[in-house]
Order: sequence, then C-alpha cells, then structure tokens
Amino acid sequence: MFHLSKITVLGTGVLGSQIAYQAAFSGYSVTSYDVSDQALAGAGERFARLVETYRSVGVPQTAGIPADAALHAIRLTSNLADAVADADLVIEAIPENLELKRGIYTRLAALAPERTIFATNSSTLLPSDLKEFTGRPDRFLALHYANQVWVHNTAEIMGTSDTSPEVYAAVVAFAKGSGMVPIELRKEKAGYVLNSLLVPLLNAAAGLLVDGVADHETIDRTWRIATGAPAGPFQIYDVVGLTTAYNIASAGSNPQSERFAALLKENYLDQGKLGTSTGEGFYTY
Ligand code: NAD
Repeated sequence: MFHLSKITVLGTGVLGSQIAYQAAFSGYSVTSYDVSDQALAGAGERFARLVETYRSVGVPQTAGIPADAALHAIRLTSNLADAVADADLVIEAIPENLELKRGIYTRLAALAPERTIFATNSSTLLPSDLKEFTGRPDRFLALHYANQVWVHNTAEIMGTSDTSPEVYAAVVAFAKGSGMVPIELRKEKAGYVLNSLLVPLLNAAAGLLVDGVADHETIDRTWRIATGAPAGPFQIYDVVGLTTAYNIASAGSNPQSERFAALLKENYLDQGKLGTSTGEGFYTY
C-alpha cells in the first residue's frame, strides 16, 4: 500500500496554489513548483490571499495547523528535479495545453523516483491522452479539483485501464486526508461527473435565453424552486466568469452558441461586467 505524505504540486496558478495550500493546511508536507522565480513571486501573493480567505471563512481545521503556519510550510522551487526528488505524489496543475503537459510528463518520467504517483488536474483532457508520457501508466490518474477547494471540496478521481487499484486507493485516501470529498469514477469520462451534468444545464439555459423563451431571472427561479438547488444557471455563469463563458460559446459552431456569445459580449463584456469577480454580471453583487 502506498502511503502519501510528501506532495509536490506543479503550477502555482489559480488551482495549483489552492491544491498546495489545502494540502499543507491538512498537514501534508508540500512543495510547490513553477517555471521561474517571477512566477513564484506571484505564488507568494496567491498563498497570502488564501491565508486571509481561510481565516475569514473559518475553514474547519483538522490538523491543528494555523492558516499562516500552512503558508510557511510550503516549500517553493523553480527547479523541477529538486521539486520531485522525494515526492510520493505529484499533482500537475499547469496550463490546459496538451503539448505543454506531455512535455512536463516526459521530464517527470526521468526525474521522479520509481515510487512516485502522478496525478493531473486537467479539466478537459483524459489521463489516457497523457499516460504514455509518464513512464508509469500504472501510477498515473486524474485528480480533479473544483475552483475554491475550501468550499467546493470535491476531488474527482479517474484512472485509466492501466491505473493500479492500489494507486487509485492511495489517492482516494489522500483526497480524504486533505479535506476533500473523493468522487470515484469507475471509467474515463470527458468532463468527469460534475461537468457532464453542469455543461448541458448551462447550455440549455443559454438556449432558452437566446431563443426568447424566458429571461434569465425566470429561468434561474424555475430551477431553484422546482429542484431546491441554491443557484440557477445564470448565477452559476456569474461565478464561472462571463469571459470564460464567452470563450466557450464563441468556440462553439452552432447558431445558438454564436448568439449567446454575441449577447455576452454586447451586454456584459463590453461594459466590464464579468460576473461576481467584478461585482456585476447577470446579477449585481
Ligand atoms: P493558471 O493559468 O492559473 O496557472 C497555471 C500555472 O502553471 C501558472 O502558475 C504558470 O506559471 C504555470 N506554468 C506554466 N507553464 C508551466 C510549466 N511548463 N511547468 C510548470 N508550471 C507551468 O491555470 P489554472 O486555472 O490553475 O489551471 C491549471 C490546470 O487546472 C488546468 O489543467 C485546468 O484545466 C485545471 N483546472 C482549472 C480549474 C479552474 O477553475 N481554474 C478548475 C479545475 C481544474
């Protein structure tokens, strides 16, 4: 059985910083890697903001580690060999780009010890797209977090047909040990469980809006009242961010997504209304 106590997180962006901080806060030994000292300086600021967030939200503490002590427990490095030299688990959270990810797994395969398990946080790639580059397909899987890990604490765990059951179980145990709720997928599925449910809902809501069937408040109210959900699809769009929604809609090739992209641009993006991050989107915050 694998025992995972030394965790290395690759990438200190939006998700990488949250994953590393949450693991340190839960008592794991954590190293964070990014490509340059300049990138690590940005990481320092992100970690400092997380300390404030964890304090103000009052994230439940099980490991007895104060929020600022977790910050100081994270070792930062821009040397990949040094970052993974003694890692039990490497969690990769670098940009969503196939060639970039294949490149880093090729380097990791040579640098990391035999025993080290690799996990990708990729939202849209399947672990099968990457496994042959890892040099250890039996010790590789996806471990997918949701943004704002301290509140949306699902960790979707998805292996390939090559992933060993012991490795899968060890990553499930790490997810639990670091305050996440493990969501165990039995096979590979693009979008995992969450986005397989969420994306069709958001698309259907956009369709109702651009077809003039109902306004966004009516659509959201229907969803909330009839299902008991706390938020409707347009409230979710505001949290995701309307820039991301626009990028996805404009990449779509059907007339409905084109009209939704145009609506988002004209009524929201061009007016600086990007969702909750700017205080205004479909709703005002
Ligand atoms: P981000 O752009 O905020 O951060 C990426 C980080 O990777 C940056 O710190 C960058 O300096 C670093 N980086 C760039 N090239 C690198 C390299 N070659 N090696 C190591 N680090 C490198 O991105 P993000 O939003 O944190 O997303 C990272 C991954 O997490 C993606 O695969 C994405 O699909 C996934 N993800 C993102 C979210 C989200 O809401 N943002 C949610 C779940 C999963």
